[in-house]
Amino acid sequence: MITLEQCLTAIKNYDGPPLKIMEVCGTHTHSIFQYGIRNILPGNLSLISGPGCPVCVTPAGYIDYAVQIAHDAGNTLCTFGDLMRVPGHGASLVEARADGASVRIMYAPMDVVRWAQDEPEQMFYVTAVGFETTLPIYALLLHDIEEKKIANIRFLFSIKALLPALDWIFDKDRSIGGLIGPGHVSAIIGSAAYEPFCRRCRVPLAIAGFSLEHLAAALYDLISQSRRQTFAVHNLYPNVVSREGNIQAGRLIAGYFEKKPSVWRGLGVIDASGYFPTARYAGLSAGGSFADESLPEPPGCLCGSIIVGRADPPDCPLFGTACTPLSPCGPCMVSQEGACGIWHRNQKTKGNDL
Ligand code: SF4
Repeated sequence: MITLEQCLTAIKNYDGPPLKIMEVCGTHTHSIFQYGIRNILPGNLSLISGPGCPVCVTPAGYIDYAVQIAHDAGNTLCTFGDLMRVPGHGASLVEARADGASVRIMYAPMDVVRWAQDEPEQMFYVTAVGFETTLPIYALLLHDIEEKKIANIRFLFSIKALLPALDWIFDKDRSIGGLIGPGHVSAIIGSAAYEPFCRRCRVPLAIAGFSLEHLAAALYDLISQSRRQTFAVHNLYPNVVSREGNIQAGRLIAGYFEKKPSVWRGLGVIDASGYFPTARYAGLSAGGSFADESLPEPPGCLCGSIIVGRADPPDCPLFGTACTPLSPCGPCMVSQEGACGIWHRNQKTKGNDL
């Protein structure tokens, strides 16, 4: 049994070839700052953030479409608060609301069922953004809508599958030498789901929880695997993540959703990377492909590079100047799980000292 002290010593004293490790979960990014892990990394060991923030990977065209819907008479756009200030190519939803569009904040997806029943003359459009972790709740919502025969709800689906995006990134960037697997998504899809990816891309993966002990153990594991040149999936969070994942949730998801090509901000269209309703529930989709990424990001914004780990937030010329949490230029600064926002909130403290 390796102790926390031994893990931290191995991390501090890493003297192998340059090693870049990616974390794909915003909560991991936050915890890494909180525990001051970045402060102890030697120069040849670096941490980069991946595409684990659902708001950040949602294409700007999606926001544009939501704004357009919210402006149409008879429609109400329902969304969680984290999407409100995300810039599209034009207005954000908060700006659209100030401009008279009908935008309502949900606190739970089930809120919309009540609103739709109370206001049958209104058409409610629901933003559905997230990863595998959010799918079961949307499956239950589709079930509820069908059972109650509610005709005035539609969804803007942009729910992503994580693994195809990892495939996309690691195919293009062979310099990333290890991956800290997310705790929440892994609880749904299971640790075995990563095995073909790790074999094919020759990358080790350690699934971790969010404590200092978990993260230090994951880094220690990835350093050790890198030295041995092994590319295994090690589940360091077994009290939450099983090898086969949440079988009940998997069955629920398969009953309502299927994978199709989907657009990611910064990555473009990735095959089988989005969850969309099966034919039976396709009528509940508001459509929209959001594929028009030919329109530019906000001038200077590096979100597309930050999402794939090619740049750190301070590399962006707007970071902390034109772009702050109070006045964000890109989604990575808006979202609680976005790398820019996390770096900005933590840069003054740099976390605790280990
Ligand atoms: Fe985009 Fe702002 Fe991050 Fe720059 S600092 S990449 S503008 S979100």
